[in-house]
Amino acid sequence: MSQSVLAPNDLEAYWMPFTANRAFKSAPRMVGRAKDMHYFTPDGRKLIDAAAGLWCVNAGHSRDPIVKAIQDQAAELDFSPPFQFGHPKAFQLATRLADLAPGDLDHVFFANSGSEAVDTALKIAIAFHNVSGQGSRQRLIGRVRGYHGVGFGGISVGGMVANRKFFGSALPADHLPATYNRAEQAFSRGEPEWGGHLADELENIVALHDASTIAAVIVEPMAGSTGALPAPKGYLQKLRQICDKHGLLLIFDEVITGFGRLGHAFAAERYGVVPDMITFAKGVTSGTVPMGGVIVRKHIYDAFMKGPEQAVELFHGYTYSAHPLACAAALATLDVYEKEHLFENARKLENTLADAVHSLRGLPNVEDIRNVGMVGAIDLAPKAEGPGKRGFDAMNEAFHKQDMLIRVAGDTIAISPPLILNENHIAEIIDKVGRTIRAIA
Ligand code: PLP
Repeated sequence: MSQSVLAPNDLEAYWMPFTANRAFKSAPRMVGRAKDMHYFTPDGRKLIDAAAGLWCVNAGHSRDPIVKAIQDQAAELDFSPPFQFGHPKAFQLATRLADLAPGDLDHVFFANSGSEAVDTALKIAIAFHNVSGQGSRQRLIGRVRGYHGVGFGGISVGGMVANRKFFGSALPADHLPATYNRAEQAFSRGEPEWGGHLADELENIVALHDASTIAAVIVEPMAGSTGALPAPKGYLQKLRQICDKHGLLLIFDEVITGFGRLGHAFAAERYGVVPDMITFAKGVTSGTVPMGGVIVRKHIYDAFMKGPEQAVELFHGYTYSAHPLACAAALATLDVYEKEHLFENARKLENTLADAVHSLRGLPNVEDIRNVGMVGAIDLAPKAEGPGKRGFDAMNEAFHKQDMLIRVAGDTIAISPPLILNENHIAEIIDKVGRTIRAIA
């Protein structure tokens, strides 16, 4: 059945994720095809993709070398059991990722999504302390307004209220305060000057629980899903110092910030901080095939490599860890990033995007604007009907009337285009965002 002949009842069976199902089904935002910077609706309308799909299509859509790599791989080796067996591309990809990561982050554990990557990292943190003779270190520290996916580990450390109120917190966790403060930071360009001191709150958390009960701290270098909140200047460096002081593992959740979004392979490089683990997903395959994973420092891997040689060292893994299609897609994607200098392109265009997005200041209902790397965010004032309605209207207006796909988080418009973009794409996106904001005023 072609998408263009879907009847209203055909939409019923699919329970859509993180979606207002009834509103979608009464006025669908359907896409049928994509190429480079654009989506196409089933009836042929061309939309500029201002969101890289969902923060993931960093190499642009349906790129020939990536498509071919996936097709060839499906024909050559469809599946390889990841437990006790291997296939060459898994090892090649792990080596490539270890080379991209800073410092001695040099071993890679594969999963299939950001949520699985996060839960894997949290489990490795707890198990690391166990095998190191510090089994009382079980507590995990996240941050208010953090998002770490939807697994029970991820929602325990996450600081997104809707995720927590429905499902609770399964693991012992505590939270650093959010780094966003509009009164102090409104209309900051790049990393805000104010807020580095908020990392000191980790000392208070350690004082409350005692370091001997804490396994790890997990933060996004830029909180993406709760409205694109760049880390304040000095914040991540300070977290690193406090974690070192108390023997806590520091995890950077780079599911969004990895693979060029902040102008480098990983944001860790931008900030000159080497965390103990990096979680990744999304951009590793440019969104083409699900994949996620964790890059860990050498001492963490080494801590597990003891005991009888025939014994499994870490009781963890997924049937689809290092799936051949995902590995082929990731290797081809990394080639595109390298050959086309896409991380450099993101760095080169950062100021252009900053100027463009901040030019929207003064438009109706614009309360704050932020930017970092290839990310821009515009906070709109909530409507009288309640939080989220104006953001929802913006997404609909952009899709149906302005030929643009945007991501909204509540009443915040988030801009995160594919990294193949040029100045003209930035101008078009910002022009359309401006039109959208005016249209829904
Ligand atoms: N961690 C971060 C920082 C994310 O932004 C996301 C998703 O947006 C996730 C984890 C979860 O990834 P997934 O949806 O692939 O499970």
